[in-house]
Amino acid sequence: MSKLNCPNCNHQAMTSWAKLDLSPLFNKSCDHCGVNLAIPFWGLFLLILPITLPFACLQFAYIRSTFMNEYLMVFMPPSISIGVLIGFILFIYAAPLIKSE
Ligand SMILES: [Zn+2]
Repeated sequence: MSKLNCPNCNHQAMTSWAKLDLSPLFNKSCDHCGVNLAIPFWGLFLLILPITLPFACLQFAYIRSTFMNEYLMVFMPPSISIGVLIGFILFIYAAPLIKSE
């Protein structure tokens, strides 16, 4: 079952783009049956971890090293954008939709 499918009616509930608007605090209704849908709290980690992990690792490496600093600054922007991309993909395709009241 696709992670974009509604747990109530089993049809596609929203587009992948619309799913990025969801959070445990902001619900969205299913396009097909109108039931309120949300993301469980742990689903947010799928989005946050890939974004913060490379950043935290590079920060740690930056503190530890003295001669690699110029290279780390070059790696920082691409690793963050790749992290954001991985976070979005994980969030859309791995975080389940749940019914909310
Ligand atoms: Zn539905």
